[in-house]
Amino acid sequence: NQPLAEVDPEIAAAIADELGRQRGTLEMIASENFAPRAVLEAQGSVLTNKYAEGYPGRRYYGGCEFVDVVENLARDRATALFGAEHANVQPHSGAQANTAVMAALMTPGDKMMGLSLAHGGHLTHGMKLNVSGKLYEIAAYEVDPESYTVDMDRVREQALAERPQVIVAGWSAYPRELDFEAFRSIADEVDAKLWVDMAHFAGLVAAGLHANPVPHSHVVTSTVHKTLAGPRSGVILSTGEFKKKIDSAVFPGQQGGPLMHAIAGKAVAFKIAASQEFRDRQERTLEGARILAERLSAPDVTEAGVSVLTGGTDVHLVLVDLRNSQLDGKQAEDLLHEAGITVNRNAVPWDPRPPMVTSGLRIGTPALATRGFGATEFEEVADVIATALKPGADVAALRARVDKLAADFPLYEGLEEWCA
Ligand code: PLP
Repeated sequence: NQPLAEVDPEIAAAIADELGRQRGTLEMIASENFAPRAVLEAQGSVLTNKYAEGYPGRRYYGGCEFVDVVENLARDRATALFGAEHANVQPHSGAQANTAVMAALMTPGDKMMGLSLAHGGHLTHGMKLNVSGKLYEIAAYEVDPESYTVDMDRVREQALAERPQVIVAGWSAYPRELDFEAFRSIADEVDAKLWVDMAHFAGLVAAGLHANPVPHSHVVTSTVHKTLAGPRSGVILSTGEFKKKIDSAVFPGQQGGPLMHAIAGKAVAFKIAASQEFRDRQERTLEGARILAERLSAPDVTEAGVSVLTGGTDVHLVLVDLRNSQLDGKQAEDLLHEAGITVNRNAVPWDPRPPMVTSGLRIGTPALATRGFGATEFEEVADVIATALKPGADVAALRARVDKLAADFPLYEGLEEWCA
């Protein structure tokens, strides 16, 4: 029962350093967030010891009476939160949730249409090196070259020509809402199943600030750690019709024992996501993204060749187009890192630069909203980013402004004591 710091001081030191990094910088990676203490506690609990292959009431191991309580709560809260008929809360990650859905809805060789990775889709939607691209035939759709948005007339034409078994709607880097109703009507027209991957925007859906894909879809997947701010993991929602297929695709199809400590964390996250505090946070998330998009569209920034893809945002992230800027994506990411702001470089559609360099940035507001930022702080951070992306930025001066924001919004106060 020795503490971590004694058993393994090297790992303890790396964790302490990471806590210091999270506290001392501004986290603007769109897929990241800060899980609350209650979620961290659930994840660090004795549930990590328990094997529970199977589902509540039908386990392959004894002693599952308490983990059944946990998994039932997680399932009930997920279905209530999103209005779904069925939830499978066992996927270890978003990618595993997606792989299970494909196995449930298709047989290898079947065809799937998903948004191209280069245009904002996720690699599990058909990238050739991913299992999705290896097992299934992929017909990727792209954004419109003028508007950079998904044009539903073009999706329909492509679906009529390709006749896929599955259409996936969802994204990792796209700043607008998708039209789920139109996706469903196209899927019905070509007799395909509609799967929506709401990994990024699930928190906005839970708060009622984004269209809910559940009523329009056969299956919906999500991660739980992005806007939802839960443990790193996945969840699958479906109609009752697909319950059996989905459950058996996850276990025994994909996974062995579920991570019961993560499932407890999911249950906690779903409970919090139904609260008014969570809704307020999602409102600030959206407001922050709008403030950032506006600031990065001001003349002093556009003069430097920087622009915002689609001209704005409806969600928690902004895509910055650097194709006409002196900076490439890697340089801009490094510059903001020096200023104390963490973002990720991101390819823009038809990016002339290679994927390790890129001509864009993806900047998100969920983690800062969780930290407590409101309009005033988002205006300040947006101005820091705008200034950094213009030529001749004084990085030390920007770092001082970032340090002040970080100091004004302490993170995980007292964590050292409750971990001790
Ligand atoms: N789906 C989408 C749309 C994502 O953006 C991501 C992660 O970035 C995933 C799935 C995969 O989630 P994970 O990293 O938990 O496997």
